[in-house]
Amino acid sequence: MLKDPAAVAVRLALAFPDLYEVGMSYLGQKILYGIVNDRPGFWAERVFAPDLDVAAVLRENGEPLCTLESDTPLAAMDVVAFHVTHELCYTNILYMLELGGVPLEAAARGPRDPLVMAGGGCTFNAEPIAPFMDLMVLGDGEEVLPEILEHVARARAEGLPRAALLERLCRVPGVYVPALFAEPPGGGLPLAPRLDDCARVEKRILPDLADARRAAFPTGHIVPFADTVHDRLAVEIARGCTRGCRFCQAGMVYRPARERDPGALDALIAKGLARTGFEDLSFLSLSTGDYSALEELFAKSFDRCRRSQVSISLPSLRVGSVSEGIMGLMSTIRRTGATLAPEAGSQRLRDVINKGVTEDALVAHVRKLFDHGWQNVKLYFMLGLPTETEEDLDAIVDLCLKVRDCAGRHVKRLQVTAAVSPFVPKPHTPFQWERQLTMDEVRARVDRLRAGFAPHKRLKLRWHQPEMSFLEGVFSRGGRELAPVVRAAYARGALFASWIDHLRLEPWLEALAERGLDPLHYLRERGEDEPLPWDHLTSGVHVRFLRTERRRARQARLTDDCRYNACRNCGVCNFGGRTSELARQGAREDIRPRVVHAVRDQADATGGAAHQTAPEAPPAAAPEQAPAQAPAPPPDKQAQGARPRPPDIGELAHKAAHYRVWHTRLDEMRFISQIELQRLIERVLRRADVPVSFSAGFHPLARLSFGRALPVGVESRREWFDVFLRRDLGPQELAARLTPHLPRGMDLLCIETLDLGRRTRQAVAEDFLLTWEGDAAEAAARQAQWAEALARAELPWTRETKKGPRTTDVRPFLAGAWPREGGMALRLDWSDGYVSPLRLVELVNPGMRPDRFGLCKTRQWMDAPDPGEPR
Ligand code: SF4
Repeated sequence: MLKDPAAVAVRLALAFPDLYEVGMSYLGQKILYGIVNDRPGFWAERVFAPDLDVAAVLRENGEPLCTLESDTPLAAMDVVAFHVTHELCYTNILYMLELGGVPLEAAARGPRDPLVMAGGGCTFNAEPIAPFMDLMVLGDGEEVLPEILEHVARARAEGLPRAALLERLCRVPGVYVPALFAEPPGGGLPLAPRLDDCARVEKRILPDLADARRAAFPTGHIVPFADTVHDRLAVEIARGCTRGCRFCQAGMVYRPARERDPGALDALIAKGLARTGFEDLSFLSLSTGDYSALEELFAKSFDRCRRSQVSISLPSLRVGSVSEGIMGLMSTIRRTGATLAPEAGSQRLRDVINKGVTEDALVAHVRKLFDHGWQNVKLYFMLGLPTETEEDLDAIVDLCLKVRDCAGRHVKRLQVTAAVSPFVPKPHTPFQWERQLTMDEVRARVDRLRAGFAPHKRLKLRWHQPEMSFLEGVFSRGGRELAPVVRAAYARGALFASWIDHLRLEPWLEALAERGLDPLHYLRERGEDEPLPWDHLTSGVHVRFLRTERRRARQARLTDDCRYNACRNCGVCNFGGRTSELARQGAREDIRPRVVHAVRDQADATGGAAHQTAPEAPPAAAPEQAPAQAPAPPPDKQAQGARPRPPDIGELAHKAAHYRVWHTRLDEMRFISQIELQRLIERVLRRADVPVSFSAGFHPLARLSFGRALPVGVESRREWFDVFLRRDLGPQELAARLTPHLPRGMDLLCIETLDLGRRTRQAVAEDFLLTWEGDAAEAAARQAQWAEALARAELPWTRETKKGPRTTDVRPFLAGAWPREGGMALRLDWSDGYVSPLRLVELVNPGMRPDRFGLCKTRQWMDAPDPGEPR
């Protein structure tokens, strides 16, 4: 989104402290980007952590880190807002600030420096980065971020000093200003407020996600050309989860559960798919299967997705939370992997953590997946949960074996993967006082599991790096005394710690040791009366509730989901005469669970946890009631217990027309790879509502074929792709539909009608224009090199292969070379093989820097080329 800088009051950089590929997958940034940019007075741009080689180039050239949209240095923005989703990105925040020219410490920033803020799950205890932040936001950002920007705009108009602005901001519900809290006289915890009327920071909450005015959701997502981690249309269907898993921080701090309206979601999905052309749709929430209107939402989306072969993924599914009807429908569109999270191997330990999943329900769920054609199932487990024993570890192996053995013989490529990661006790959860395993203890338990998995075929074990969990444990429960450690670790080169290939413990351990801090001190069990670094921050869940849940965990007693059962008085809501812990908001907002259907089939919704204990608390006022549930789609009876059949894609496979679309690839389009181009064209066709024909088989693919891949960095004035349509639009209509959806640098040239039976042939020769920088003498020398190459009988090119060096004679590919002003016109002959034209240029004009020359394809010859020079 581009805006006129002079026409906006506040410019915001939404900063993600990881690579573009990771950050562009983060839904929170997309939501805030849309909300801020919808307001005329504000402009939100994006910035991501550059990879180390890019940072080296920036430093070498004295260039600052800039926003993507307007190339503005971070130091010139009004606000830089970091999304802090995990503790391992803390040093990346300093890295981005330093590259952007922003002072690292909040106390060192002056009136011309941007306000630096943080939001995201970590802010419920981000004391280790508190001195680097002017402010943090706890909870939902949709309303509080624009309020902050309005305060900034007003402060600027009034000429208000920075400190006075922060004092104003600390009174906005959800805003935490770290500088306004400090150690009490004599030191220690809890941190004491400097202002009496800002003694405790409460999270911000959007009470009702069905209120489209307050909980806007963007449909105009930015569609990246590059491959991102989650490259799809992600739609948030609900926020908050009250299943009550006792280890889950998100489940505690984002209470209560609030669902979006399925009709509104359906409209969002229709618009989102039409505007982006994504081939994958994902329903996001903390527990997608618990969305009470999943059946009807899925049924609504299914037909639309099937028509354009868009896959639907349902991440975060609980055992038994998806009906067989949905599974059957999912199996007929493009299928993604199946993952389930029993978290613990034994029933006893699953009850300790309040998982509410029985072994029978898990096996039954997986059996259905296999019957519907899934072949790979991934199960997530945690190591080191409170009260874990060796028997609990052995139960992980047993459970995976049972899952494997429930597959019928029809599952040919069966694979069951157990992914284990160490348990990290998180603030604001019932396990916040628990001890965390040391790295050696984690390794010993992983070794036991490896020995248990080794003899078994079709079982695979993957485990999370203990070093990462160790750091996460230290920094998630640490206090402000860790801020100098973050800074010192950064100075020692600790960056991208969540990437296995970048993670090094030494900088962290040295920085801790330098300050006399013992990391094991942070992993130890805490006393329930011990002051904690996050005591001044509240998510609304009362500590009394956390203690009760911890006691029930020790007794392996389950606690029901308050969406469908009695309220457990955790403290967040204010219905039925309750007083919400969120006093600032609770006084004027109606905070309660908001589900579309208040009654669910319990056997289905609880993963068959028929042994659940009765609730302790008396029944409370029922959460919001909603209309009766819509009928579920019929289950796919044919697929049950049978060998899965390829989906019948019917008329989608029909071929009515065949076209060749000629287009350019100029400017930025030269930087996308062939795979990225294919994905881009598929998305353009979807956005343009072109009725593409699909192949049959288990994974129907759009019937598209492409010309020879253009090397990255090479432009082209003449590229093509062939496409079969299932309904003939005619070339003019096809051109009219495609043109508005092609990206900059890709212009439509013409459309050829092809025979339906014509097979794709590649060009037998291509013309290129090579241009370079340099003076006349350099140009003459390079042109002479081409003349010399033409005069040679052989042009050997040696490259490294896995089997050692291999030499090819590339002279036959050079059909002609003609001097042009500032370059050469080349004709390359591909009738008897191919080599990248860039390799030829490197060979003939050695030593030319890639940024000092350009290569552009000017013509493709599908039959023998005309004699003479290229025009
Ligand atoms: S206050 Fe009651 S209804 Fe609200 S989230 Fe807590 S337990 Fe659930």
